[in-house]
Amino acid sequence: MAPAHQDYDVVVCGAGIAGIAAAYALTQTELKRVLIVDPGPPLSLTSDKSTECYRNWWPGPGDAMVALMNRSIDLMEGHAQDSGNSFLLNRRGYVFATARPDMVDTFAEQASEAESLGAGPLRHINNGAPYEPAAAEGFESPLDGADLITDKALIDTHFPYLNPETVAVLHARRCGSLSAQQMGMYLLERARENGTEFFSAALSGIETSAGRVTSVRLKTDGDEFEIRTDNVVLSTGPYLKECAALLGVELPVAVEKHIKISVPDPHGAIPREAPLIIWTDPITLDWSDDEREALSQSDETQYLLEEFPAGVHGRPVGAGDQVLMYWTYDCAPQDDPTFPLDWDPYLPDITLRGMARLVPGLERYFDPMPKPFVDGGYYTKTEENRPLIGPLGVPGAFVCAAFSGFGIMASCASGELLAKHVAGMGLPPYADAFDPARYRDPEYRKLLESWDSSGQL
Ligand SMILES: Cc1cc2nc3c(=O)[nH]c(=O)nc-3n(C[C@H](O)[C@H](O)[C@H](O)COP(=O)(O)OP(=O)(O)OC[C@H]3O[C@@H](n4cnc5c(N)ncnc54)[C@H](O)[C@@H]3O)c2cc1C
Repeated sequence: MAPAHQDYDVVVCGAGIAGIAAAYALTQTELKRVLIVDPGPPLSLTSDKSTECYRNWWPGPGDAMVALMNRSIDLMEGHAQDSGNSFLLNRRGYVFATARPDMVDTFAEQASEAESLGAGPLRHINNGAPYEPAAAEGFESPLDGADLITDKALIDTHFPYLNPETVAVLHARRCGSLSAQQMGMYLLERARENGTEFFSAALSGIETSAGRVTSVRLKTDGDEFEIRTDNVVLSTGPYLKECAALLGVELPVAVEKHIKISVPDPHGAIPREAPLIIWTDPITLDWSDDEREALSQSDETQYLLEEFPAGVHGRPVGAGDQVLMYWTYDCAPQDDPTFPLDWDPYLPDITLRGMARLVPGLERYFDPMPKPFVDGGYYTKTEENRPLIGPLGVPGAFVCAAFSGFGIMASCASGELLAKHVAGMGLPPYADAFDPARYRDPEYRKLLESWDSSGQL
């Protein structure tokens, strides 16, 4: 079967959240005849593997990431409003916790930086200052910025499940979670109502004439089609590099494998209404003397005795008793993705043990550990961990990709920005920060040398 038509205003390659949000936004412009192509079902490669969280809480340099995320959250809230919150957007926040007194100043610095970048004010919650807990459901809270709670009694009251040694909690407020699959399908349905078509095929070539895009070649099982179009958008997730190469364009991206687990929590160690909780301290795992002795015997297991990085995090997910857990401790960058994914066989055990430092109630699941569900995908990343949205240097070719670990939350504003580029509309102030042309700017290249993109979630 061939696509319904032989020419389209735009062909979007990739039906992950990036391509779908781009197609949706394109149909809000004059460019109504949009074709999305993907060899797989929509939202099935990376976009259904996320922890489904969002935040307007981003470091600099500059305010572009905060501005993009604030805009994206505005758009997500609009869609939630219009759909009767069909994708369960909540505003529970991100809760960063520490047992290290020296982290209090770091939290304050981070929150002040976020405030200066537009994430909202820092409130110091101590000496009886009021703290407003987050509602479990709904997204309408006017609170943004962050509450830095150092009042131990207040921490114990509102977060009794956290490690009793917790000395400070930083509660970032314009943050929460959603059903990414349901939001993606909502956007796809609206795009289809506005004229978008979906065709099951892979982009296999891009034709140009006089240096600009004139058509794309699409491959299905055994068949190849040529579709006329003036505009092609690459949203091919971890396959971005190879698709850009079809145009002779080299993009500075790598992929990183990220694996998460979920386990049942029948004893409610983490309350169902909990926000995303993050332990900001490095962790050396607790082992019994016998375990320690056994692990030290082999080169393969010795690393289990060493210090693991900060940042283990998790949250309750779904209507049952599952808890999602995620620890970015093993994700070396690679050029190309390989499927099926494999992972360190100790990862579920390590992640649970790491999470138990944050929530000691989880220790009851150490032995025997309940059967975990293990899953994951690739972050497609630029070196400074910012997306690529804009023209690719060949007229008519655009990119909306490199969404790293923030593709769900960034998708709505990124799609909007991409559509403005393609339709030649006015661009928001943050456009340059995501334009692939930034790498041609010597000042930007200089900035990259001192860019700290560590500390990702
Ligand atoms: C473990 C994990 C946790 C995460 N947590 C979060 C989170 O909490 N919040 C958040 O915002 N983000 C999170 N992310 C990141 C987010 O999931 C991704 O950034 C996002 O899904 C990327 O979307 P995408 O559309 O760019 O890529 P994908 O979803 O991978 O879609 C790309 C599509 O392109 C298609 N494709 C490939 N080659 C071709 C071709 N030649 N022609 C046509 N189509 C092609 C693929 O089949 C695929 O469907 C997480 C990711 C992981 C892995």
